[in-house]
Amino acid sequence: MPLHIATPLLESRPLSRAARCSVWLKLEALQAPGSFKIRGIGAACEEYSRRGARRFVSSSGGNAGLAVAYAGRRLSIPVTVVVPETTSARARELLRQEDAEIIVHGDSWHEANIRALSMIEESDAFVHPFDDPLLWHGHASLIDELASSTLAPDAIVLSVGGGGLLCGVIEGLHRNGLGHIPVIAVETEGAASFNRSRQAGRLVELEKITSIATSLGAKRVCEQAFQWSKEHPIDSLVVSDGAALSACERFLADHRLLVEPACGASLSLAYDAAPELQGLATVLFIVCGGATATIDQIREWSAANRDKAS
Ligand SMILES: *Cc1c(COP(=O)(O)O)cnc(C)c1O
Repeated sequence: MPLHIATPLLESRPLSRAARCSVWLKLEALQAPGSFKIRGIGAACEEYSRRGARRFVSSSGGNAGLAVAYAGRRLSIPVTVVVPETTSARARELLRQEDAEIIVHGDSWHEANIRALSMIEESDAFVHPFDDPLLWHGHASLIDELASSTLAPDAIVLSVGGGGLLCGVIEGLHRNGLGHIPVIAVETEGAASFNRSRQAGRLVELEKITSIATSLGAKRVCEQAFQWSKEHPIDSLVVSDGAALSACERFLADHRLLVEPACGASLSLAYDAAPELQGLATVLFIVCGGATATIDQIREWSAANRDKAS
């Protein structure tokens, strides 16, 4: 039994009406730790456990850390997560719920990550949030589920942070003979490391992350994500924080599911009837989910965002 579940695949009436095409949802928000990440991280942790790991270490205060904590609890392997001071109370509470040991260190992820790496011992496995082929193989299971359905989408919309989900989805498409299906890769302004690299024609590192969609906040995408853009049709789009936030609120009203702005970024393409969707008959949206934002936090961000705009 894998640590993830096979998620529902359903057609959304409200999103289809807004987008003016048939919108299908792959509901990764329903995974127990709240996002798609358990697919790849669960598979990687099982493999590290087979190789004899006695502890898992992560430096993510977000959904990757949560997935590692969940996997460790299910596999009865202790987990240590090193997070920066900036990690929200909500994220810490979720990590504690999974019985992970939490070490708070440094002002930013960079310092927390250095500390995490410095404490790795022989019998530990460090679990990277996006740059690990084991993760991509695991994420690809999402497309195996699509391939066993009768749905044949004209495009797949997904969000990009470090590019792990992108690599997994494309690997899944190719291993199922679906390599012709294009991917629409969505980021928010201030976290658009993939878009920047595409424009520059080489891997670019952002100076800093300014988007509230922190789950998309990798300063640099993994090499493989950039590599795929030469071998697979990928359209790269950037949306505003405001668009992502308003998509979160509308999705909650429409489907009764609360997702992070990282996921709202993708959903905003349907709600805003993005030109890139016009002419397509059927589009699959990966509802990547995310557990770390509360509805109060999303409304606070929305209010602050409106003040900034006016
Ligand atoms: C991690 C994450 C992403 C981005 O995934 P990458 O593999 O880093 O590109 C998007 N949405 C949510 C909710 C996430 O947790």
